[in-house]
Amino acid sequence: MTPLLIALSALLAFLLWNQTRKVNGYLRRLSEALLNHDRSALGGEPFDRAPPAVRELERHIFEQLFETETLERRVTRREDLLGAIVEGLGDAVLVFDQNLTIRFINPSASNLFGWDSDSPPLDRNAAACIGNIDLVGMLEDCVTHGRWENAEITHSVPGESEVGRRVLEVDVAPLQRDDSGMVTRARAVLHDVSAAHQLEQVRKDFVANASHELRTPLTVINGYLENLLDTELEDRDMSLRFLGVMRKHGERIARIIEDMLTISKLESGFDGIEDKRFELRKCAEEVAVRLAPLADAKDAQIVLDIPDDDEIAGDAFYWDQIFFNLIENAIKENDAPGLTVTVAMRRTGKYDEIVVADDGVGIPKAALPYIFKRFYRVDTNRGAEKKGTGLGLSIVKRAVEAHGGEIRVESTPGVRTAFVINLPGQGDAPAASATRDEAEGQ
Ligand code: ATP
Ligand code: MG
Repeated sequence: MTPLLIALSALLAFLLWNQTRKVNGYLRRLSEALLNHDRSALGGEPFDRAPPAVRELERHIFEQLFETETLERRVTRREDLLGAIVEGLGDAVLVFDQNLTIRFINPSASNLFGWDSDSPPLDRNAAACIGNIDLVGMLEDCVTHGRWENAEITHSVPGESEVGRRVLEVDVAPLQRDDSGMVTRARAVLHDVSAAHQLEQVRKDFVANASHELRTPLTVINGYLENLLDTELEDRDMSLRFLGVMRKHGERIARIIEDMLTISKLESGFDGIEDKRFELRKCAEEVAVRLAPLADAKDAQIVLDIPDDDEIAGDAFYWDQIFFNLIENAIKENDAPGLTVTVAMRRTGKYDEIVVADDGVGIPKAALPYIFKRFYRVDTNRGAEKKGTGLGLSIVKRAVEAHGGEIRVESTPGVRTAFVINLPGQGDAPAASATRDEAEGQ
């Protein structure tokens, strides 16, 4: 072999070695970029001079990484969106596995079960954390039998009173199964339907109470009618007496119906309420005059502590009803002579405060939460004569609310019973509707 051939062979070997080294370098960089999902490691100086096959490979990897990144971003966005929806859901959501181990809960579930949202009971057993046998039974049935469960259960929220027991519509369904069909993940969604239940109960009570209240005077009227027919009106005095009783009960039926219509009108957001300015003192004076015979018969006194000429904006018709019912209640419920009923008004800037107070027997503490409910009467044995319908205070409350105000009651039996009405301060405001809108907007 000539020296020239040897030199050429060495040069060739060197060039081959050098090329292989460069290609290896490119491939190493490509593989690192792929491994680290790093598009920035590609392109630029070294690859500009790379062989076409390597550049082609680089372009493919670059595109692949770009697509993967876009896909990852889309998945993350969707996950974030779903997460935000489930997190913000009013319904409680719970995900658990075949051993009832809790895998996910949203904040509503934490609230419902009284869990600390900073340290939710993830990876703990649902049966041990959820203090509700019915619900745990449903979760067990779902994972054991692999079926969808739906039922209504009652639930006491920890820390809330028993009175506030919630009614929950529970929906439990499998989410994932293994190859043998066994449930490996399931979810429970708990929807609070207490408000709908309460509304339904109120409706039922209303129908039952209204029927009961109307049936009593109707039975009396029918009884006297039978008597009249039996006696064939022979005894004129007795017939007149019977007719008198019938008229009284007829009037009672008419009043109940009228009261129910007033309540329904006020409850249906009726906006035909007037907002004229009128003198509150005059309105209370008129009521006091009408109730004077009842007050005199019981030796009761009605004291008005309302500034002269002080006007408020509102509907005088409803203020007449408010005062009449509150003052009549006080007199009606007290037989002992010497009762004083005071009607006072103070303007405090933010509120106009109107108070109807008496120093009579008062209202037992246990009855106070129910006093404004329709048909509610305090159960006393103070004689059937006092028996009203129990609609008066319902009307008062709704009428006050229609004026944008609030009413509350305070009672110390035998000392002082006060119905306190707070109206949005009117000062020189022109109209009730304006102040009402402001109050609602607060
Ligand atoms: P209605 O007003 O429909 O004729 P009512 O007077 O019985 O019937 P409300 O005005 O709603 O019904 O009052 C409810 C109950 O509240 C009354 O039955 C009474 O027992 C009690 N009550 C209201 N005000 C007083 C009061 N000032 N002192 C004592 N008890 C009161
Ligand atoms: Mg009354």
